[in-house]
Amino acid sequence: ATPAATMVGSTISAKNGVLFKGGDILERVREVDAVVFDKTGTLTEGEMQLTDVVPLDSHRPDGGAVTTPAVDETYVLSAAASAEAGSEHPLGQAIVAGAKERAIDVTEPTEFENVPGKGVTATTDHGEVLVGNRKLLEDRGVDTAPASETMAELEAEGKTAMVVAVDGAVVGVVATADTVRESATETVAALTERGYDVFMLTGDNERTAHAVAAEVGIPEANVRASVLPDEKADVIDAIQADGTHAMMVGDGVNDAPALTTANIGVAIGSGTDVAIEAADVTLMRSDPADVLKALRISQATISKVW
Ligand code: ADP
Ligand code: MG
Repeated sequence: ATPAATMVGSTISAKNGVLFKGGDILERVREVDAVVFDKTGTLTEGEMQLTDVVPLDSHRPDGGAVTTPAVDETYVLSAAASAEAGSEHPLGQAIVAGAKERAIDVTEPTEFENVPGKGVTATTDHGEVLVGNRKLLEDRGVDTAPASETMAELEAEGKTAMVVAVDGAVVGVVATADTVRESATETVAALTERGYDVFMLTGDNERTAHAVAAEVGIPEANVRASVLPDEKADVIDAIQADGTHAMMVGDGVNDAPALTTANIGVAIGSGTDVAIEAADVTLMRSDPADVLKALRISQATISKVW
């Protein structure tokens, strides 16, 4: 684009709440043929609510049942929330908020480790507590079988289910739910109608991801789930391997490498600073529908040049 045309594009878009970092970006946006959405915080609002606390009758590795203290809802939530007390992850914060709403004791852990893409491990009043996905428990040699059925049921509802283990044995499952953003479904439909290939990329598990994908109309074959934070960029590389020009839309610290790797990185305005810095475009209103606006603006601006 000529400098003048570029300026027109940037001005129009700023008024619309779509910020382009530089003029050449408009031209690159025009080449996009696939749009990859992060799930949590992008297609969904990212405001997780604790929905379920399920105590599970599990057994110690030595074969003895977990009987003292009694494994009930209060115990499971208290253990999970105490492990997550210092967590900066939205899932951890939802667990802590849920415990406080239910007037359940939350104590500070003496030791705490955040395991990216998997969960947390902590030493609390309850013992050695793990809260996270199957990968976390498998890493630590904890048998996830007692939690399988409950996890599957909750995930089929589109919830993020997390196993809670104390001293090497499963004591329960907690789950959170998130709300799909209002315009997500119509945006996916409009993009598909205009011929864009639409993908979903998430660290969340397959079952939850497929439930959300089905809700917004993203084909099952285009869902990339259980992706570890440092693998998100590789997924973009794989999508672009055949010459596809991908636009990645994300909000999290985890999404930054993928935003950089994609031909065009788009950050959700309410997202993290790290994502906004890594991106070429920022959607100030945090509305996925503005992806369409960005695509339209680039088409209109570039055609004016000729
Ligand atoms: P996303 O890509 O959806 O932002 P993350 O990569 O941050 O997700 O996390 C992937 C998965 O790891 C979560 O769905 C959850 O199962 C687990 N996990 C991550 N952080 C935590 C935490 N603080 N507590 C429990 N589970 C967690
Ligand atoms: Mg996210």
